Amino acid sequence: MSHIFPRHSKSTLPMAASGEGCYLIDTNGKRYFDGSGGAAVSCLGHSNARVIKAIQDQVQTLAFAHTGFMHSQPAEQLADLLIKHAPAPLDRVYLVSGGSEAIEAALKLSRQAHLERGQSARKHIIARQQSYHGNTLGALATGGNAWRRAQFDPLLINISHISPCYEYILRQDGETAAQYALRAAQELEDEILRLGPDTVMAFVAEPVVGATLGAVPAVAGYFKRIREICDLYGVHLILDEVMCGMGRTGHLFACDHDAVAPDILTIAKGLGAGYQPIGAMLCSAEIYSAIETGTGFFQHGHTYVGHPVAAAAALAVVSEIIENDLPRRVQAMGAKLHTALVAEFGDHPHIGDIRGRGLFAGIELVKDRTTKTPFDPARGIAGRIKKHALEAGLICYPMPGTRDGQRGDHVLLAPPFIISDTQIDEVVTKLSHAIGAALA
Ligand code: PMP
Repeated sequence: MSHIFPRHSKSTLPMAASGEGCYLIDTNGKRYFDGSGGAAVSCLGHSNARVIKAIQDQVQTLAFAHTGFMHSQPAEQLADLLIKHAPAPLDRVYLVSGGSEAIEAALKLSRQAHLERGQSARKHIIARQQSYHGNTLGALATGGNAWRRAQFDPLLINISHISPCYEYILRQDGETAAQYALRAAQELEDEILRLGPDTVMAFVAEPVVGATLGAVPAVAGYFKRIREICDLYGVHLILDEVMCGMGRTGHLFACDHDAVAPDILTIAKGLGAGYQPIGAMLCSAEIYSAIETGTGFFQHGHTYVGHPVAAAAALAVVSEIIENDLPRRVQAMGAKLHTALVAEFGDHPHIGDIRGRGLFAGIELVKDRTTKTPFDPARGIAGRIKKHALEAGLICYPMPGTRDGQRGDHVLLAPPFIISDTQIDEVVTKLSHAIGAALA
């Protein structure tokens, strides 16, 4: 029996013992290819020497200094490096311990910046259905995943949710991608006008939707129009790159692909690459100056803000990504992964869509490819894929479809950026086996 919470008493999950490159090894010596990097976390694999050394050195020199009393060099250096490579208006970095904390900080900063500018009526947040922004109450309220929210609904702040930009399901017959981009973005303007433009604080979206839809990029032109609408009404654009940022899509920041810069940006998972828990919120000089020339301080904080060891790890991670030009490698290996997935599953009767960007790939399973009807949730396809994949020595990230039929079961792949050609074949072969066994 285990005292760990949560651990289901009937859990059959293996016990992790060690990590080596792209593999995790359990206590029986069995090797698992980490095809989803956990949940798009382990972008450098599990034994990166530079990151491990940076952590060891930092913990020996300075383990912790509370930011209420002292600044620390690794945090300053990390912030400098991030801003050097971030889209132009982003100018300041607030370091936290993970993705949900980054979103909470983003929401509060947006509200406070409007207040400092005398716009106290701005309190409404607009986000999107079928999105995930974290599990703390503010982040959960922002997310549009009905299942995750259900039990806690009475505790959640009121947030509007417009449709995601989800071409596979929501683009209509006869509509071009460009027309669809404008129609999807128009929902934001309609909602701002409905709420009253002077009352809207921020719009929050993932550039590539991860945990709820399975690597769904917006169609070209969508975010450009979203940016215009936010500018028109003075609404902050908050882009959540907790999952898709830090090189995962083939650009250091996912929004670089669309050439659209947010007012506030959140990152986490790939920032620490699993070596340390860390997240960050980046904000524009304009937002920062509202605070600086106003009350002078951001009314927020956690004990572990700017933790020196986490910052030293992230500094090494980001340096590895930039110095080795890993985003370019991600583009090349991502194209190979996509080609391999299409070769294996392109004609599969139950795989309706193969999508993604860079090494962030998703496949959607449907009962019927023509009607795009999802499988009956009672079949538990996603859970079965996970189980059969683990048996085959593959970690992938399957997610169940929705009961309302809005989307089918899907599998997310987010392998380490160091994946090789033969390892791409290994992932696709094992995934094919797991899907076959799950559908049998
Ligand atoms: N935002 C996005 C887009 C995420 O994918 C996640 C985690 N899956 C979060 C926020 C929350 O991050 P964390 O689990 O580190 O709190």
